[in-house]
Amino acid sequence: MDPTQEEIRRDVRDAIKGVVAVVDRREFVRRGREGEHLDDWWSTMADLGLLGIGVPEDLDGSGGGISGPVAVMEALSEAGTPAVLYLLTSFARTAIIRHGTEEQRRRWVAPTVTAEVRLCFAITEADAGTNSFKMQTFAEEDGDHYVLNGEKVFISAADDATHAMVVARTTRLSESADKRVGLSVFVVPLDAAGLDLQQMRIDLHSPERQFVLHLQDVEVPRENLIGERDQGLRVMFDALNPERLLVAAWAIGLGQHALQRGVDYARERAPFGTPIGSYQGVQHPLARARAHLDAARLMMYHACAQFDRDDEAGAYANMAKLLASEAANAAADAVIQTFGGSAFDADSDITTLWPMIRLLRIAPVNNEMILNYISERVLNLPKSY
Ligand SMILES: Cc1cc2nc3c(=O)[nH]c(=O)nc-3n(C[C@H](O)[C@H](O)[C@H](O)COP(=O)(O)OP(=O)(O)OC[C@H]3O[C@@H](n4cnc5c(N)ncnc54)[C@H](O)[C@@H]3O)c2cc1C
Repeated sequence: MDPTQEEIRRDVRDAIKGVVAVVDRREFVRRGREGEHLDDWWSTMADLGLLGIGVPEDLDGSGGGISGPVAVMEALSEAGTPAVLYLLTSFARTAIIRHGTEEQRRRWVAPTVTAEVRLCFAITEADAGTNSFKMQTFAEEDGDHYVLNGEKVFISAADDATHAMVVARTTRLSESADKRVGLSVFVVPLDAAGLDLQQMRIDLHSPERQFVLHLQDVEVPRENLIGERDQGLRVMFDALNPERLLVAAWAIGLGQHALQRGVDYARERAPFGTPIGSYQGVQHPLARARAHLDAARLMMYHACAQFDRDDEAGAYANMAKLLASEAANAAADAVIQTFGGSAFDADSDITTLWPMIRLLRIAPVNNEMILNYISERVLNLPKSY
C-alpha cells in the first residue's frame, strides 16, 4: 500500500533532522553573515534521499508530484533554514519534466537528485518588474544555437546553481500580435562564456544571495530550449502552481518557526513575576497567528492534492500563497512584540527573521497579483491592467 500524505510528511520531517544536524538555524544565519555556502548541506540532502522526492522514478527519483517537495520546504523552513535554491530547483524541474524531451529530462532533471544539477530561475528585469511581458532579454536564433543578450536582476543563489532557467523573448513585443506569444525558456549553464554575475546588496540573513545576471552574446545550443520557441508562457504556467505551493510552504514553515520561538519566550519572560505568556494581550496575537497558519496549511495541502491528482489547482494554490504569506507576517509581528526590545538584539535572531518573511508578500509574485488572479479567474471580474 502507498504511504499516506501524512506518513510522507512525517518521514520527511524525520529526515530533515539529519540536515539540520549539519546546518541549523544558528549556522544558517552565521554562514549568511560570513559569506559561506551550503555545499555540505546539499550533499547531506542528496545522501538522505531528500532531493529525489518529487522526481519520477524513471528519472532516478522516488516519485513525482508536488506534495513531497512542499513537505521538504515546510520542514526546512520550520527549522529556520529555508534554502531557496531547493525551492527554485524543485519548481524549475517541474517545467522540464512536463515540457522537456527525454534527453532534456535525463540531462537536467535526473542529476538534481544528486545535486549535480541545481537550477536557479531568471525572469525579473529592472524595467519590466511584475510585467514580465515587457522583458528586453532577447534570444536570436543563429543556425543550431541561440545568442542571448540582456540583464536579469534579483536572481537568487545564482552562484550556488549550476544552471539558470532563463526566460527571454524570441519575438520582440513590438512584433507580437499577442503579448503572451514570443517568450522562450532556456537552460543556460552558469559557466557559459559571456555570462557574468554581480552580487546585489540584499540582506536576508541567509547564506544564499541575489545577483544581477548579465548575458552578453551567450551562445546556447538549440537543444537547451525547453518546449516550443515563442511558447515559453505555457512552460512557465505549468511551473507556477508548484512555485505558489512551495512559497506557501516557505511562509508557513518560517511563520511556525517564529511562532514557536515567541511561545517559548512568552513562557519564560516574567518582568512582573508571572510569565508574559499568561497575559491575554500577549497570548491572543500568538493564538490568532497559529489559527491563520494552520488554515493556510490546510489550504496548501488541499491544493497540493489537487495538483497531484491533475485537477485544476490554480485557485487554491494562489489562495494558499496569499494566506500563508499574510499569516507568516502576522506571526512574525506578534513574535517581535512578544520579545519586546530583545527582538532587536542581534543575538536573539528575531528581527533577522523579519526581512525574509516580509519578502514573501512581494516575491516571487506580489500578493496584489495573486488578488488579481483570484478577482479575474475565480470571481470572473474584468482585468484592470
Ligand atoms: C530577495 C529577492 C529574491 C528574488 N529572487 C528572484 C529570482 O530568483 N528570480 C527572479 O526572476 N526574480 C527574483 N526576484 C524578483 C521578484 O520576483 C520581484 O521583485 C517581484 O516579482 C516584484 O517585481 P518588482 O520588484 O519589480 O515590483 P514592481 O513590478 O515594481 O511592483 C511594485 C509593487 O507594485 C504593485 N503592483 C505591481 N503591479 C501591479 C498590478 N498589476 N496590480 C496591482 N498592484 C501591482 C505591487 O504592490 C508591487 O509590490 C527576487 C526579489 C527579491 C527582493
